[in-house]
Amino acid sequence: MPALDSHTIEIRSHSPDQTRLVGMRLGGVLQTGDVICLQGDLGAGKTTFVQGIAQGWGSLDSVSSPTFILVNMYRREDKSQLFHVDAFRLDSTLEAEELDLDSMLADGALIIEWPERMNGLVPNQRLWVKLDHIDKEQREMKFKASGKRYNDLLEVVRNETFGGG
Ligand code: ADP
Ligand code: MG
Repeated sequence: MPALDSHTIEIRSHSPDQTRLVGMRLGGVLQTGDVICLQGDLGAGKTTFVQGIAQGWGSLDSVSSPTFILVNMYRREDKSQLFHVDAFRLDSTLEAEELDLDSMLADGALIIEWPERMNGLVPNQRLWVKLDHIDKEQREMKFKASGKRYNDLLEVVRNETFGGG
């Protein structure tokens, strides 16, 4: 199981449940202001991963693909918020700007599907997760941390997945 360097890990998922489990570990430590980017083709497992994140975070709401409204917001008992953006249908920089990521980040954590369509508006400090379809049930999950906060988040995922610490 490769730990490529301190900023990168790869996890091979063998089932949707395993993808959700990895998401739950990450969701359990998410805080207001955190940015998680999820890159991958249709069917790669991004929304499945978000289901796990939301569950680990403690969401009272269930996750659905925000395909038409671009942003979903999930709530927790302590009133904190988790934002879920799907930028797949964004078609202009103006539209991306109007999403106003900054105000979301002031109020909660943020997950972005299709971050590469955000026209460079994604914060530089983030955890970037790339999901690749291997076969019907297998996905490669590649995590890359940018910034200290995200190295710390990655460390949690690494320890809970590969043991140690
Ligand atoms: P995306 O949001 O990237 O388009 P979804 O999470 O909506 O992807 O869909 C992924 C599909 O692939 C689901 O039907 C899911 O059950 C299936 N799948 C099969 N194996 C896996 C796996 N290991 N991880 C995640 N999803 C998987
Ligand atoms: Mg999706």
